[in-house]
Amino acid sequence: MAAERRLILRHIDQPGYTPDIDCYRRHGGYKTLEKALRLEAAEGPDGRRLTPQERLRQEVAVSQLRGRGGAGFPTGLKWSLVDRTSGKPIHLICNADESEPGAFKDRQILYKDPHQLLEGMILACYANEAHQAWIYIRGEFIQGARILEKALEEARRAGFLGNNILGSGYDLEIHIHRGAGAYICGEETALIESLEGRRPYPRVKPPFYPTVFGLYQCPTIVNNVETLCAVKHVIEMGGAEYAKLGSPNNTGTRIVCLSGCVRRPGYYEIETGKVTLRELIFEESFGGGLREGRRLKAVIPGGVSSRVFRAGEKVKLPSSDPSEQGAARAVDALDIPYDFTTVAAAGSMSGAGAIIVLDDTVSMVEALANIAEFFAHESCGQCVPCREGSFWISEILRRILRGEGRPQDPDELLRIARNIAGGKTVCAFGDACARPVESFVTKFEEEFRAACGARIGAPAGGE
Ligand code: SF4
Repeated sequence: MAAERRLILRHIDQPGYTPDIDCYRRHGGYKTLEKALRLEAAEGPDGRRLTPQERLRQEVAVSQLRGRGGAGFPTGLKWSLVDRTSGKPIHLICNADESEPGAFKDRQILYKDPHQLLEGMILACYANEAHQAWIYIRGEFIQGARILEKALEEARRAGFLGNNILGSGYDLEIHIHRGAGAYICGEETALIESLEGRRPYPRVKPPFYPTVFGLYQCPTIVNNVETLCAVKHVIEMGGAEYAKLGSPNNTGTRIVCLSGCVRRPGYYEIETGKVTLRELIFEESFGGGLREGRRLKAVIPGGVSSRVFRAGEKVKLPSSDPSEQGAARAVDALDIPYDFTTVAAAGSMSGAGAIIVLDDTVSMVEALANIAEFFAHESCGQCVPCREGSFWISEILRRILRGEGRPQDPDELLRIARNIAGGKTVCAFGDACARPVESFVTKFEEEFRAACGARIGAPAGGE
């Protein structure tokens, strides 16, 4: 039977575990940092002499840790892209702007185990020779910001922050910045704009890759809350040991958020790729199945910006049998292991680990209308296809829900979505708002047709 593998959530929700520094230290907290600050230079695998900071970066690279914020970009690779030649200071930002509908994992860490995040941040800053760091926290997490402020003060008093940390000669200060509640600030360049005091318009990449031209045009690392906590465990265990957890190219553990029509919604930490979607939804140790008498209708596997899977849908995955030379095999979408690679190969994405379960009581038209309204509200408005398209999609869906759908509306929704998607916008938000439209309308064609009296793919018949 599939079960949780708690690493980051090891202490969270244990009776008596509190977010203060004394409790964290009683459970072994800050020991990894103390050890890391005592590291000495040593020879690396290629015979080159590595500084202590390079050794830490090496461990993260060996761990193959992938970012937990949504894109799954390898953390070690991101760190290796930092421009260390410019002479400018290197900054680190913790992205705590968790805003994807369905995601609520970072919040648990911020509220219940803030020192774990701080230890991970200090380690990441030390490894990257950063002396200033920021936690950009979602505006709605008011209590979370207070908890973090207190944790920072405790860490300063204990000598884990400030000048000459634990006598190592290393200086670091961490600042908290509260966002104003904009979803787009989860996008790293928009976050940086906001942090600099401007309207959060995402920057054009290239040239504005944060690792080269980030905060105040300095090299900047933006890592997610869960990623930074994972860094602490990578350093604690060693990169090679961490990489034994999970599956190839999807190492370690990750926290999934299960919500919607399941009996036991919540957050669960699993070995990446070792548990299937079906197990996450139906096993007693996870979602515990649906309510009595209900049937599964659909699963959104990675937050509302991912493509939906229809219950019973077959997806094509490359065969794992070497003799078949990668030939495709059909697999039930629910039976795919939950990891970055497989969910992407199946045509969707696992994103920030937000799984939303829909049963047969849910109207897909209503569900999409909710999602579309969210995207229309959150578009930053910088580019026309996204600003206008997301609004039109939302308006059409609202009209359909009022019973005023036109036969050509499903085609119109697809046409607008396709005109937003495919790299026509400054940031990935454009694709994020188009994906659910395209997948909902094509996979639940009959429902949208019934709502509009249209046949998808047929020429638009006019009014
Ligand atoms: Fe803003 Fe949308 Fe353009 Fe991104 S795609 S920059 S959110 S208008």
